[in-house]
Amino acid sequence: MNKFIKFFLVILAFTACKKVEEKKDVKEVVTQKKTQENTIKPVYATMETAQVSSTDDAADDSCIWIHPTNVMESKIIGTNKQEGLVVYDLSGKQIFQYPVGRVNNVDIREGFVLQKDTVAIVTASNRTSNTITVHKVNPLDGSLEDVALKPLQSKLAEIYGLGMYKSAKTDKMYVIANGKDGNVEQWELFETAGKVAGKIVRTFAVGNQTEGIVADDYHGNLYIGEEEKALWKYDAEPDASTVRKAIATVGDTNMKADFEGVTLYDKGEGIGYIILSSQGNNSYAVFDRITNAYIGSFNIADGAEIDGTYDTDGIDVTSVAFTKYPKGFFIAQDGANTKGKDSLNQNFKLVDWKSIETALELNKQ
Ligand code: CA
Ligand code: CA
Ligand code: CA
Ligand code: CA
Ligand code: CA
Repeated sequence: MNKFIKFFLVILAFTACKKVEEKKDVKEVVTQKKTQENTIKPVYATMETAQVSSTDDAADDSCIWIHPTNVMESKIIGTNKQEGLVVYDLSGKQIFQYPVGRVNNVDIREGFVLQKDTVAIVTASNRTSNTITVHKVNPLDGSLEDVALKPLQSKLAEIYGLGMYKSAKTDKMYVIANGKDGNVEQWELFETAGKVAGKIVRTFAVGNQTEGIVADDYHGNLYIGEEEKALWKYDAEPDASTVRKAIATVGDTNMKADFEGVTLYDKGEGIGYIILSSQGNNSYAVFDRITNAYIGSFNIADGAEIDGTYDTDGIDVTSVAFTKYPKGFFIAQDGANTKGKDSLNQNFKLVDWKSIETALELNKQ
């Protein structure tokens, strides 16, 4: 081979190599960017509630009661699914407990007119009696009072998940309960003889085991998690069709079965986020409330004082402003509560919404 051709070939090989390298660089940057976007972002709890009194899997779901005049007097109502309802103040201290039975999920809605008073109603799925318990919140101290005319006896094989819906169209209040067999019962609540009574106004089947549920009162939507399959969106009105849409499917980016608790962060005027507990990878997936597009995921990691969450069932969130939490807070059940090396009974962890907003860059959306 003459010298000239040899030189030419070397140059050619060098250029080709460089091109491959450059291509690889571009690919790496794209992959890195994608990985960053898809990373589950850690946030930290700023408060944890007292432990529940039962050992093993006991804490499950929670809801937040906002005090009508002094938000600092608001309360967290949780379930101990082996015993009953528990009320905590905002520092996490247990202030009341009600051994009403094996209540699994709990939810709350304001604005029920009872004996000419406008009250907040708390309902829970009670597996001891296969009923729905109905309480009102005493605005003086956040205590609960049983206001059921008689227990709402479910026809589900085993009552399990539960959420409430207050229709913006009709102002009627509903409880939507589901069973381990994936069947759903929608109850309408109304006043009878100064108490709360109910009737079943719709039933439908989701498929397999369901639990997590949240209604979007503003848009009239109902989100239900089918644990090993998908997060579904239905119309929440009792006379609507049961045509549904899958918002997320098990196996989507950052989402692993079981799909558990579902909740809604309300930014007002119909905007906000839907949040899902992706129990299989101990994280929480956030979706746009209007488009239902997936935005990102976060997890509650171990902090210096408070441990992170593991195997979360129920979640809840509020956008109400508190001195410590100007954009509200998120609350999640922790399936493995620890203190240093000690394993304690389960509890609930609270996260400042601002840290979730920052971690997921929600303001840039
Ligand atoms: Ca559990
Ligand atoms: Ca809930
Ligand atoms: Ca479950
Ligand atoms: Ca933990
Ligand atoms: Ca702890």
